[in-house]
Amino acid sequence: MRGRLGITVRGTVQGVGFRPYVYRLARRHGLGGWVRNSTGPVEIEVEGEEEALDRFLADLEERPPPLARIEEVRSRRLPPTGTTTFVILDSRPRPGDFQSVSPDAATCSDCLAEILDPRNHRYRYPFTNCTNCGPRFTVIESLPYDRPLTTMRRFTMCERCRREYEDPQDRRFHAQPNACPDCGPHLSMLIEEAVTALRRGRIVAVKGLGGYQLACDAGNEEAVARLRRRKHRPRKPLAVMMLEPERYCSVAAEEWQALRSPAAPIVLLRYRGGLAPSIAPGLRELGVMLPYTPLHHLLVRDFGGPLVMTSGNLSEEPICREDAEAQQRLGGIADLFLGHDRPIAARYDDSVVRWAAGALRVIRRARGLAPEPLPFCASPPLVATGAHLKSAFTVARDGRAFVGPHVGDLDDLLTVQAFEEQLERYLHLFSVRPERIACDLHPDYTSTRIAERLGEPVRVQHHHAHVASVAAEHSLRPPLVGVALDGVGLGPDGTIWGGEVLVLEERGFRRVAHLEPVPLPGGDVCAREGWRMAAAYGLESPPEGVDPRRWHLVRQLAGSGRSPLSSSLGRLFDAVASLCGVAQVSTYEGEAAALLEAACEDEGDVIKVELEENRRLFSEMAARQRRGEPAGRLAATFHASLARAIVRACQRTGLRTVALSGGCFQNRRLLEATVDGLREAGLEPYANERVPANDGGISLGQAWVAAWQ
Ligand code: ZN
Ligand code: ZN
Ligand code: FE
Repeated sequence: MRGRLGITVRGTVQGVGFRPYVYRLARRHGLGGWVRNSTGPVEIEVEGEEEALDRFLADLEERPPPLARIEEVRSRRLPPTGTTTFVILDSRPRPGDFQSVSPDAATCSDCLAEILDPRNHRYRYPFTNCTNCGPRFTVIESLPYDRPLTTMRRFTMCERCRREYEDPQDRRFHAQPNACPDCGPHLSMLIEEAVTALRRGRIVAVKGLGGYQLACDAGNEEAVARLRRRKHRPRKPLAVMMLEPERYCSVAAEEWQALRSPAAPIVLLRYRGGLAPSIAPGLRELGVMLPYTPLHHLLVRDFGGPLVMTSGNLSEEPICREDAEAQQRLGGIADLFLGHDRPIAARYDDSVVRWAAGALRVIRRARGLAPEPLPFCASPPLVATGAHLKSAFTVARDGRAFVGPHVGDLDDLLTVQAFEEQLERYLHLFSVRPERIACDLHPDYTSTRIAERLGEPVRVQHHHAHVASVAAEHSLRPPLVGVALDGVGLGPDGTIWGGEVLVLEERGFRRVAHLEPVPLPGGDVCAREGWRMAAAYGLESPPEGVDPRRWHLVRQLAGSGRSPLSSSLGRLFDAVASLCGVAQVSTYEGEAAALLEAACEDEGDVIKVELEENRRLFSEMAARQRRGEPAGRLAATFHASLARAIVRACQRTGLRTVALSGGCFQNRRLLEATVDGLREAGLEPYANERVPANDGGISLGQAWVAAWQ
């Protein structure tokens, strides 16, 4: 019996070699028909024996190509027409529809073998790619994903590349960025020159996939110190690209898997040492990535050791995308520019992940991860603009949420422009006409003003959004307990929140427990000068390294009743880090807390306090410190006591499901102790995985709240 099926496939099926795969599959099963891309699903018609049609459908769903993610396959019967040949048709627009395109993918093993093989036509060619790897979102200007709509359109394929592109048996069949040394992009200088400069301790700006990066010898302290000075980044850890992470770090199986995944993110690994001391000062973790483009492979291999590979920007500005922009903004930092003539369509920083509490957790969602869609609840098309720090937006439609890439803190014009540029791009690429807008409750955030320009926004309280981001990720249904612990977010009562236990309801939330608010003497500056919080918490004499005169002024200010109040856990971390002598000032967000976590030495002790008794917890710690308890033990005790207090606060609600979010849960020790404690108490904890627990994940929660309205 002959039959014909019309099939539509949704999911990440563009830019992953899906059409050639369907072509080969249809031929293998002896089927006729066609396949084509659209701006919506991939469309297929196949005709042949019924049995063959069944096997074709089963293979399609069960054995897709490596980068594809199938979300939905629909088929319907059609009258047979007698076709026996199978063809790939031209793409077809479907106005208003949308598709997911694969994020950029790390160089595959086949392509790597080619660039390392002296007899291969692509030997040492830095732009080698195929349907299983290479640039995607960073070259796409518009959809459907076809070469004329990418930044590769200016390169005309040579005879040889075209033959590969048109040969269904070839790995490069319909590989849109296909290129070779005869026809593709070229570097602005020899890799050898860059390597020589790196060996001499110079700083080289490298044009990567989603923007410029700054590279230097990770083993050369002088070079690393110079990079820090020029980049105005005194202490924030620097990521390192290397071939053999196991030489410097302990790497668990799950971490290897993350390192070698097509997303090839920076993975925070337990660092054993061996590189320049100022790579990650005071921390026990190192951000490591493997080379993920042919250019990186050649650079790291020729150099023969680990290279610092950090975003090409001045601290907190967006990563540089255009050549002229890079020359201008990075001119004072880099000694040399290793550029090329393939334009970058969109800025994408490197993503950062960490394995903690039994799951891989995203800390910065960008290259290789965005814009992979997350399953989302039913909602009208919507946009959420996030908060202020680590900004990222979410656009959602048809049960999917696209969380945009990390852009940076919305403090300066450049970052705001980059944010708006990306938002416009996502709205266009996914044909989203937002009917609902969501933003933070804070009236002065730039993200709030951007939302107001788009319509009348739903204003979502910061910690409500944090907790909702976990509900969205894990498809949890309210009511549930939410624990939101971070540095700062505006509460509906006008005070600054940040140590909150909420009950998340279908519409809205109830605040059921929180840290007792303490004054922030000097306001926002407390996040940088953590010792001020030790004063606010009542520490009597100034910690070492703090000017006694300023200390006494701040103590007076804290007691004057003129300082804003905050229930922030981040600020309690600052106070304790100051008390322990671990950090008096922070040069990047969360530095004091990160150093306090790294300082923990044993299991610590448990001080039995409730979450609201943060003042008592601090004074008990101060008493122990006076008795000479070492900082490493104090730090551990602090984490253990806090985890216990959180578990107790959750238990009091009588609910079982707990969502943990907020930047403080990036702290592995706190997260793991809390999760363990909750499980022991018979509760069911969930935490962020695919979006950051920090403010980079907050737009997903805002979107969820707006969807439930
Ligand atoms: Zn490849
Ligand atoms: Zn070519
Ligand atoms: Fe936050």
